Amino acid sequence: MRRFSPLGGNTSCWGQILRHSLRMTSRGGLKEYLQTRIAPVLHRTLQKPLIGRGDCGYDMCFRENVLPRRWQGVWPQDIVVAFLKVLSMQHQVIDFHTHAFPDDLAPSAMRTLLAEAPGIRAHLDGTVGALLGSMDDAGIAQSVICCIATKPQQFDPIVRWCDSIRSTRLIPLPSVHPNDPEIVEHIGLIKARGFLGVKMHPYYQDFYVGDDRMSPFYEEVSRQGLLLVMHTGFDIAFPRDRRADPETLLRISEAFPQLKLVTTHLGGWQQWDEVRRHLLGRPIYMEISFAMQDLSLSVVREMLMNHPEEYLLFGTDSPWTGPKETLQLLEGLELPPSRLDRMLWRNAADLLGQASDSPDSGY
Ligand SMILES: [Zn+2]
Repeated sequence: MRRFSPLGGNTSCWGQILRHSLRMTSRGGLKEYLQTRIAPVLHRTLQKPLIGRGDCGYDMCFRENVLPRRWQGVWPQDIVVAFLKVLSMQHQVIDFHTHAFPDDLAPSAMRTLLAEAPGIRAHLDGTVGALLGSMDDAGIAQSVICCIATKPQQFDPIVRWCDSIRSTRLIPLPSVHPNDPEIVEHIGLIKARGFLGVKMHPYYQDFYVGDDRMSPFYEEVSRQGLLLVMHTGFDIAFPRDRRADPETLLRISEAFPQLKLVTTHLGGWQQWDEVRRHLLGRPIYMEISFAMQDLSLSVVREMLMNHPEEYLLFGTDSPWTGPKETLQLLEGLELPPSRLDRMLWRNAADLLGQASDSPDSGY
């Protein structure tokens, strides 16, 4: 796993990343950034044994002016190391597909979901705390948390919960239900509250991606510059109803060219022949969760090599797969480093950055 946690290795390769991070943060005021965004994460990180205490780069970062020299001796070594670790992790891996639930609901939500999907196992308990712990373990800097409103009335509680958990490391995407009579207003509200996108799931929300009634929804998500993470392909917990098939997704992306559509499960779970026919090679984002577990690695590799590298994203569908295992499988594919880097971090960082930069809609 060394490739994904550079601070565990020698210091020469990550000095550049750290300098870059600090350059970026200094624009907005380093001190404020540290206090408001890094300190809470440090607090968690410091509760874990730090990597490479003896060879942590403490001296190097003052020698090379990665940190101001006046901090030397003032900032304890542990704090500096944790700080560097957090900063460098921000440039490593972004998981574009995870799930978590409010602490009080997690046990029953996990029980219900597991009962509906035979053969699936939970790698975590479904809480945000467990997700953060697994991110620390696997060297994942940020996770996109996908919510699913299974009833229109869930909109408000989902937005409230998303608001309560958002942080530097967690990027929650709320959800709207297709039967919500205020769906357009609610998309505006999601934008106004500063969220970066919405997650939709045709099976749990009982719709077909090609339904005419979905057009105003795509239109508004597109107009607001929000991301749309869509469950695509079949779903293990449901009959094989063609609700989100690759050809229809292609039609939607052509009808709404501004729509930032992210397909999941390598374009469509267990519809990969159709993905190859209709989506591969097109400018459509794909995250890779639950593909390497189901397909031969050589097929996954071939598909990843035949899709534009700027449209590949890393995803785990945690807690339903283990992030560490997914990273290990990916490492086994031996993709070219630039393609891997784009998939693990750069494309996601660009996409999340664009979504947060998009012009205010006036809400
Ligand atoms: Zn999922």
